[in-house]
Amino acid sequence: MPKMLQRCQKCMRYTLQKSTCPFCGGPVKTAHPPKFSPEDRYGKFRRVWKKKMEEEKTPSKT
Ligand SMILES: [Zn+2]
Repeated sequence: MPKMLQRCQKCMRYTLQKSTCPFCGGPVKTAHPPKFSPEDRYGKFRRVWKKKMEEEKTPSKT
């Protein structure tokens, strides 16, 4: 598992320190976006796709 990159909220420098910034002592926060779930997007896409497939599967013409 890769190390989580942290970013200082004070001087905006990147660090691997989790508690405080080694440069200015300011608070650090994870540099990665807190909420990032591509699965949700794909899930939505899958639902639309599934619906489309079901519509195509449904025999409209007997
Ligand atoms: Zn800093």
